[in-house]
Amino acid sequence: MPKVKNWQLARDIEYPYDESRPKKQWAIVFDLNKCIACQTCTLACKTTWTSGKGQEYMFWNNVETKPWGGYPLAWDLRILEKLGRQDWSANGEYLGKTLIEAAPPTERVLHFAPTDEDWMYPNVGEDDSGGLPSLDGGAHMASLPHDQWFFYLPRTCAHCTYPACLAACPRKAIYKREEDGVVLIDQERCKGYGECVRACPYKKSMYNPYTRTSEKCIGCYPAVEEGIQPQCVVNCIGKIRVMGFINPPWKARKDNPVDYLVHEKQIALPYYPQLGLEPNIYYIPPLNADREYLKQMFGPNVEGALQRYRELSSDPVAQGLLCLMGSSDKIINRFEVKEGRATGFDRDDKEIVTVPVTEEIFVRDAFDEKLEVVRHNTP
Ligand code: SF4
Ligand code: SF4
Ligand code: SF4
Repeated sequence: MPKVKNWQLARDIEYPYDESRPKKQWAIVFDLNKCIACQTCTLACKTTWTSGKGQEYMFWNNVETKPWGGYPLAWDLRILEKLGRQDWSANGEYLGKTLIEAAPPTERVLHFAPTDEDWMYPNVGEDDSGGLPSLDGGAHMASLPHDQWFFYLPRTCAHCTYPACLAACPRKAIYKREEDGVVLIDQERCKGYGECVRACPYKKSMYNPYTRTSEKCIGCYPAVEEGIQPQCVVNCIGKIRVMGFINPPWKARKDNPVDYLVHEKQIALPYYPQLGLEPNIYYIPPLNADREYLKQMFGPNVEGALQRYRELSSDPVAQGLLCLMGSSDKIINRFEVKEGRATGFDRDDKEIVTVPVTEEIFVRDAFDEKLEVVRHNTP
């Protein structure tokens, strides 16, 4: 089997096809410290793409509460348990097997198949906390990480560099677009065998019993082609997301928002990188949660990422970029921060948005002389 480079694991891995990176790679960064589980993203996707017959249980975007939530039920626990030990070396190399390396001889990918019941509870475990049971006097909140904790995990398809869904499809109906790295299922070629549903460890390929084909997040490619960010990103109430294009570390650009957060500052990490697919959704981990849990989910660089995130209060460039998140519908190809203002530029290098890094405050007089009224919202 060919060997391909997986920078997230700091080593080469086995994959059924030769390495062929797209010209650009679609990616989203999420700041998990800001998500409020309002599910606006879920509904934005649902009302745009999956309101048809057979799609009732399809949540191409979902938001689950960790540690107890998961859609479909316990998707991550079940594949991690099957994979076995997942050790990392001190220099960040993954020493365990990936899903493709651990596959039995008759299969292409180590997998599990959710049952119909597993797809029936999209919000199971919502707001259930993990950690120590004591709530005495608020002590569970007194330090970071909290003794009792939970966090919200919004998820879409990761448009993986090495997609398990694509590797497993016997019809070669799944392809990765060269122009933006979006992974799509050709609905004409798909015969609904469901191999992709079983193989995707993130369970982001879903079977439609009405059309008898599999379907998945399309990365909102019609918008992306026009330079617009996906529906789940532009509708995010918490402004926790930014979509753009990520380069591999050896081509990273400091003025590219996604490269900056992932490669330059190294505060955003891929989730479950040990599965070996080089997923392209990245998370700024939550400060409040148990470190061992986060290490399992985001790999060995979690502690460093959290430390650097804490230090952002003395980093005006990173602060400016975080202020740009959610400030424009357009894809920000380049950003700069100057004199307390952060500016985003589109793919033609035209300015699309400028925001202040520190919100300006205007205090109005209590008495409006022109209208001769006293304003109740001023001191
Ligand atoms: S819209 Fe944003 S804040 Fe709300 S649940 Fe989705 S990701 Fe979280
Ligand atoms: S997340 Fe799953 S469905 Fe999406 S590209 Fe990766 S393997 Fe395929
Ligand atoms: S990128 Fe588009 S299709 Fe994919 S989850 Fe978000 S809204 Fe849905």
